[in-house]
Amino acid sequence: MEIFDSLDQKIQLLEEAYNLAIMQSHSLPDAAYHLFLLEAEIRDTIYRKERFSTLPERTECHLGNHPVKGPGEFVRIGNKGSFIVCNSCIGLIQQMVGTTEFEKNHALKNNSVNADIRTVLQPLIEHNLIIKSGKVWIIHDSVYFLYYKKQNKTLALNSWIDELYDRLEKLQQQQDAFKKIKDSLSGTYSQVFSLNAQIDDLKNKVSKIEDDSITYRCSECECWIKKKSPTFFGVYTICDDCKKVLSGIMSFRKAEEKFKLAAGTLKRDNARGKLDRYKERGLIKQSGSTWIIHEIVVMAVYRELPEHTVTPSYTAQNIPSSLLERSRSVYNKLKNSDDSKSEI
Ligand SMILES: [Zn+2]
Ligand SMILES: [Zn+2]
Repeated sequence: MEIFDSLDQKIQLLEEAYNLAIMQSHSLPDAAYHLFLLEAEIRDTIYRKERFSTLPERTECHLGNHPVKGPGEFVRIGNKGSFIVCNSCIGLIQQMVGTTEFEKNHALKNNSVNADIRTVLQPLIEHNLIIKSGKVWIIHDSVYFLYYKKQNKTLALNSWIDELYDRLEKLQQQQDAFKKIKDSLSGTYSQVFSLNAQIDDLKNKVSKIEDDSITYRCSECECWIKKKSPTFFGVYTICDDCKKVLSGIMSFRKAEEKFKLAAGTLKRDNARGKLDRYKERGLIKQSGSTWIIHEIVVMAVYRELPEHTVTPSYTAQNIPSSLLERSRSVYNKLKNSDDSKSEI
């Protein structure tokens, strides 16, 4: 059996177990934890499969600092078009909208989101899922699924890991209370026994999370997160690179201030069509009455973007699963790209 087939089979078996666990989740204690472990194992297997199928050299997205996912899935901007922005980063940028549009898209009450940003949604600001730009707030579409779509909103922004810690802490408090009064109570033996067993079980789960054996994947760019404790909201994860991409999104006015352009420059040049190609690529857009731009556009048009040497794109697609075939196709791809390099 080819290595790809066996990994595929493993992924399939894990997914079946995962679906079964979802169906039983109402009666399965700590369902979120078990689902997450299964998910982690699925991700780990996919990761290994990708490592097998990925060639060492690939086109890099210079905005998000990750490889471009597939052939042609990027745009070139900047001087000589050497600055590459991948479609995944563009998608991330396009999902940022003004609060009015957000409310309209999701049938929420007028001005309710602004009020929530000042209270319950505050924790999302430092992760750039919500950004203040001058007087307006810009919000990422995922906030709808993270918060508004959840039935239990009080715990919506807690991660399932926090929930495990909270439960452990509460059980330990109960254990302490029992210890203090156990001599004056009778018939507490089985309660104390069950409490200890639950605490051991939770400690075991927490240690698995802490010992770094779980792999995490960014919910946005789907890149692997190497650092130990990534940001979690529920089961949503976002990596530092994606947060950095989001940090460059701003209103025209804020961009003019940041890059010391005369007030109104962007509005005027936008009306004259000078920014059209960036608009078509989704790096500038209008949301409600606010124009939103990514700072790389301002740098490309009015300042300078760092220049990069452009490498050809190699991807795992179309590589047959047989390793022999694979190495042959790798050789041919490298050979072809060498030929095309020499033509330049
Ligand atoms: Zn990217
Ligand atoms: Zn990411």
